[in-house]
Amino acid sequence: MAGAGLDSETREMILDTLRKYADKKLTNEFLLKLDHEDRFPEEVLKELYDPMQLGLHLLFIPEEFNGLGGGAYDIYRVSELMAAIDLGVATGVLATFLGSDPIRVGGTPEQKAHWMGRVADEALLMAYGATEPQAGSDLASMSTKAVPVEENGAITGYKISGRKQWISNGAVADIYTILALAPGGPSWFVVEKGAEGFATGKPEDKHGIRASNTSALFLEDVYVPADRLIGAVEGQGLAQAQAVFGYTRVMVGAFGMGAGWEALKRAIRYSHERIQAGAPLSEKQGYTHKLIVPNAARLEAARSYIEWVAERLDSGEEGLQTEGAVAKYMATESGNKAAEDAIQALGGYGYTKEYMVEKIKRDVRITCIYEGTSEIMEWTIARDRWQQHLKTQGAFYNEWATRLDALHATEPQNGANYAALAMRALAVILERARLDRLTRNQHVLFRLGELIAWAETAAVFAERVTQKPTEAVNLDVPTRQALARIHGRAAALKVATDGLQWAIGAGQTDPNLAGSLNLPGIYAAQAGLVDDMNFARDQLNHAFK
Ligand SMILES: Cc1cc2nc3c(=O)[nH]c(=O)nc-3n(C[C@H](O)[C@H](O)[C@H](O)COP(=O)(O)OP(=O)(O)OC[C@H]3O[C@@H](n4cnc5c(N)ncnc54)[C@H](O)[C@@H]3O)c2cc1C
Repeated sequence: MAGAGLDSETREMILDTLRKYADKKLTNEFLLKLDHEDRFPEEVLKELYDPMQLGLHLLFIPEEFNGLGGGAYDIYRVSELMAAIDLGVATGVLATFLGSDPIRVGGTPEQKAHWMGRVADEALLMAYGATEPQAGSDLASMSTKAVPVEENGAITGYKISGRKQWISNGAVADIYTILALAPGGPSWFVVEKGAEGFATGKPEDKHGIRASNTSALFLEDVYVPADRLIGAVEGQGLAQAQAVFGYTRVMVGAFGMGAGWEALKRAIRYSHERIQAGAPLSEKQGYTHKLIVPNAARLEAARSYIEWVAERLDSGEEGLQTEGAVAKYMATESGNKAAEDAIQALGGYGYTKEYMVEKIKRDVRITCIYEGTSEIMEWTIARDRWQQHLKTQGAFYNEWATRLDALHATEPQNGANYAALAMRALAVILERARLDRLTRNQHVLFRLGELIAWAETAAVFAERVTQKPTEAVNLDVPTRQALARIHGRAAALKVATDGLQWAIGAGQTDPNLAGSLNLPGIYAAQAGLVDDMNFARDQLNHAFK
């Protein structure tokens, strides 16, 4: 995994260089043209990877292999910026990162040195080949096979046969990591472009990220020497894929957030210029409090969570798949909603290509699908936290609520009291689900995943807003506190009302569940909401004029 990461000066330099490059080369006109022509801009990827210009791929290669050794936090910051510029180009970069992951995580020292060194020195494009036509969310049902080739009783290589689907950089990569079923179980193999029996499909005609290449891969008895089996032991493939989810989901979460924020900023700028009924839209509550402010609150809640996970990864914690799932889920769903609302905010202009929000909306949609769909995130989150609830006999969220109340006593502006209400309501719903065995209904389990994501992002936002203020957005602490209060209230209300709906809908048996959920208290906590939204609106208008 990545080490502690870059110093802030180096990181700022990279971000600044990338901004300048984009200002010069990746203009709206150019990006719209790529989108229209459905063209992968190989020349842009080459320049982004060129060490004399940006050397962006070096960010995720450890220093010992001639990379920069960026950490999760650095990758989040660069991913957010890349997505704000163009999510198609960002996906081309992501695919190299993903493609190298199995080697970074599971490779032998020799494999790491060889392949990571080559990616660094030769600026190679990579692709990550996991998904198959019949195996997407359920990778274990894959059918691509790796058949050992033996000489004198020893395995000297493998012949890989099968088909991979929806592979980013599929037709343009130099090196591929391919998941295939060996006799010992799913395993990753390195396959090079041009290998005999290896072919790529035509680029997919996609809804969005049309500047990225997505293609099927066809493998027919593709021979690879035994040293291309990543980790040199069969059967490690799914564990190696799992091991990096905390990390890669933070990255895709940052994509969703970056694209969503970009759409929202465009909507805010537009709202200053557009005069309707005698005043700019930016001054109309019916517009800002529906289309702008709630999106900023959700996106910033997601940011806090992303930063929390990234810091934990950089401090050496392993796994964090569930936290990565919360980060991805909240950030990508919020980004998608923000872009959708940005189209509405621009009215008829939003529905045309020229203003970019229509393209951003199509682009950001993929973040809710790739690297694990939103439903798979809901499932991952719910399964893990359900176990926490059972193991701690309900203490997991009740104790978190107690910590939030303590925080509220010293930092009363952070919305920690609202997050505490959300946490307590969540603990009540989880316990009711246990007593009445409601999670036998898959839908209830998945909805719990959603509620958990809302409650946890509210908590982490309240906890970090003053204690770890972000450097990544041009909004001061009082503004982000107002956003934390807005999100906290929304989370409490959502957990209680959605929780009640699905518990009753699934046949729960407590006649006083609404009382146990403290619904009156949660409604009373909405006091001051409109004032907070007015304040947030003014600050957003000022920051993104
Ligand atoms: C543009 C693009 C780029 C991609 N890049 C890559 C890449 O580089 N490498 C790679 O390996 N893959 C890549 N993918 C594949 C992507 O990760 C998968 O599409 C995704 O994981 C979903 O798999 P699927 O398409 O087979 O959908 P399915 O798994 O069939 O899911 C279809 C729907 O059913 C839901 N669903 C699935 N299982 C369950 C369940 N158990 N319970 C309830 N609901 C469920 C899903 O949430 C979804 O809504 C890419 C996809 C696209 C579109």
